[in-house]
Amino acid sequence: MSRIAIELPTLQNWSCHNCGGCCKQHAIFITDEERERIDSQGWDSSQLGTSEKDLVLEERSLTGKRTLRLAQEADGSCVFLDEKGLCRIHGKFGEAAKPLACRIYPYAFHPKGDEVAVSLRFSCPSVTENLGTPVRKQKREIREIAELVVPNKAAKFPAPAVNKRTKLQWNETLSIVNAIDQTLAAEEANIGVKLLRALSWLELIGQTNFEKIRGERVDELLEILTTAIEEELQELPQLEAPSSLAMKQFRLLAGQYARKDTYASADRSFKGRWKQLQAAFRLTSGSGLTPAFGNGLGHVPFAALEKSFGLLPEESEELLTRYFRVKVQGLHFCGRAFYNMSVVEGFQSLAVVLPSTLWIARWRAATSGRNKITHEDVREALQIVDHQHGYSEALGTWGARKRVSTLAQMGQISKLIVWVLK
Ligand code: SF4
Repeated sequence: MSRIAIELPTLQNWSCHNCGGCCKQHAIFITDEERERIDSQGWDSSQLGTSEKDLVLEERSLTGKRTLRLAQEADGSCVFLDEKGLCRIHGKFGEAAKPLACRIYPYAFHPKGDEVAVSLRFSCPSVTENLGTPVRKQKREIREIAELVVPNKAAKFPAPAVNKRTKLQWNETLSIVNAIDQTLAAEEANIGVKLLRALSWLELIGQTNFEKIRGERVDELLEILTTAIEEELQELPQLEAPSSLAMKQFRLLAGQYARKDTYASADRSFKGRWKQLQAAFRLTSGSGLTPAFGNGLGHVPFAALEKSFGLLPEESEELLTRYFRVKVQGLHFCGRAFYNMSVVEGFQSLAVVLPSTLWIARWRAATSGRNKITHEDVREALQIVDHQHGYSEALGTWGARKRVSTLAQMGQISKLIVWVLK
């Protein structure tokens, strides 16, 4: 395979700090070849101190596809995780002996024209806290992983659609993506204003007929739109409460983000499904107490989450701007990386991450009896949300997509953003 060109995020640092978090919250699906390798390593479940008899489970997915998965303890921990929080396979046989899924995390690779864009998952605490070596200085190691995972034909994949009707060439699509990144990079504006600006001009992109606007004319259009909106929108507009219909749709989406289920902890029994249904009823009604989802999210009155929890902590501005820019630069919000959504639809879904994160941060604070959110609340909430964003089957369903598009058509995503920031 010829060396692939990778594009790295400009703002992010990362090194693994061995917290073991990813080994507790993700199901690791493996290939037949990886199963054979693990079998040949001679592991014995009694030595590992696990109650699981089989270390690799052969299952059927909902669609009937055969899958192989590393067994997990009841709390979601991988059976190969040791008491110090380290991987036994890595410890005994080295990094390259681990399943590919473990080696890739927290990176995510997406075709970007003739390059591959690299994004990161903010479910990893070292990513949210920006700890370690700048990612742009780890090009050689990251490219080695990318070469294991990116298919040869990736450079031939077409660009994601721009809106419901339009597919453009890669260079034209990337002009739009770069313009979103530039909007988010504005230093003088807070994260709410930056998202509102991007949503406003992308709404116009969503309505544009590109038949006669191609090539350089796409750049001209972007220049006109982004400049006009930047001048018009200098600060957050007056608070106008989201409608009750919008709040209902929003609670269902944010509730989906709040469930940090691990594959092992997800209860697929009738009782478990009944509990899920009850939680959905509560989120729809928005009255009485919230469901309890663990991860610091207990039963609190819904009404308590509707009040202001103070201004966004200063450090959270940097975290949220970095989050959105890493996702946009890494194309981690549209196309193959994100339920095959268009750039416009995918960005609307990405923008809902802000109100979802801050609502969950409020929920976390209220569960601990506080009426102000801290940076830690925001950081933890973002880890919970990004665990699901782009990876939860439920968020890619027709119902969830319809919820986001309804909120966007009613102009309610912007209202939700203002509401959680005031
Ligand atoms: S969650 Fe992140 S820091 Fe923790 S072990 Fe996994 S990769 Fe390392």
